[in-house]
Amino acid sequence: MLSLIKLPRVFNVHQVPKAFQEDSIISGYRHPRSSATDCVLSLFQLTNETLNVWTHFLPTWYFLWKLLTVVCMQDVWNDAYTWPLLVYLLSCCVYPLASSCAHTFSTMSTRARHICFFFDYGALSFYSLGSAITYSAYVMPDGWVNSTFHKYYISIAVFNTIICTAMACYSRLGLPFLHYNHDITERFPESQRPKLGKVLRISAFTYPYLFDNIPLFYRIFLCAGEGCTVNEVNSVHVYHTLLAFLTGFLFATHLPERLAPGRFDYIGHSHQLFHVCGVIGTHFQMQAIEMDMSLRRAWLQDHAPPVTFSNTLGAALLCIFISLGIIFLFSRPLLRHPASSRDPCTARK
Ligand SMILES: [Zn+2]
Repeated sequence: MLSLIKLPRVFNVHQVPKAFQEDSIISGYRHPRSSATDCVLSLFQLTNETLNVWTHFLPTWYFLWKLLTVVCMQDVWNDAYTWPLLVYLLSCCVYPLASSCAHTFSTMSTRARHICFFFDYGALSFYSLGSAITYSAYVMPDGWVNSTFHKYYISIAVFNTIICTAMACYSRLGLPFLHYNHDITERFPESQRPKLGKVLRISAFTYPYLFDNIPLFYRIFLCAGEGCTVNEVNSVHVYHTLLAFLTGFLFATHLPERLAPGRFDYIGHSHQLFHVCGVIGTHFQMQAIEMDMSLRRAWLQDHAPPVTFSNTLGAALLCIFISLGIIFLFSRPLLRHPASSRDPCTARK
């Protein structure tokens, strides 16, 4: 039966347009104008994207199971203390799902590729907001609870999320209508300043991460004396932090494939390792958050500001609507002129 299904052909780096080429990946590229069916079928053959998809698609189900467990086991409708965890778990389901969809359908066309990754960036920003909301509610060190920083922490995190979604989208093509339109053939700023796009994108993800983690870094690395919240959770927070730095390192350096171009095209290249480390990091982060949540419940409910709709689900909804608006704005020039089916980027090869 399986032999009746014809799997799509794969190509080498010189046979695909520049927008599809990945640093130090030589072979295993899918056709740059694949149909949706071919994109789905390609998940069952080995291409340089196959493991990128599965390393995020399978964890989505694990995180969804965690979310459903909380919804079923806890009194989420009446117990506002669980809401930050719900938002965080939702963001943990959204980011790997958006990423696996982006990796699956990114070879339908050059424009589709850009739009797919705009959604991927929006989902990653949403995940950073989910982390900030739980950190504010459960992880903030005792001494910082009710401080001025704590008061503005979520508002700043929402602002960062919006700025960083826009910055990550900008890093692909520049500003919509001003730097690119439907017939764009070059990637701005990457085409003019190749390093700028990469630096902007790395900054768009590391900046909110570093901001969100200020209370945690202070708690586990700097704090001494009273108000530090020293408990058994700190070591789990350290595992998560180490994995987060490893994840960032892999994304930024393109190791190991840079050392041996072509050797890791299908298995073991940096993007797959980046996904795997990110997911394991999220797993430890989730574990630490749940531990802090239950260990500190009584103290936090006595001392911390109350958890409200606006600093949990409200902030998340605001972020989702604005991020979708930003993605729409950046996608708009790519969606216009539906009558024109020719993709100049693809034709260029
Ligand atoms: Zn990815």
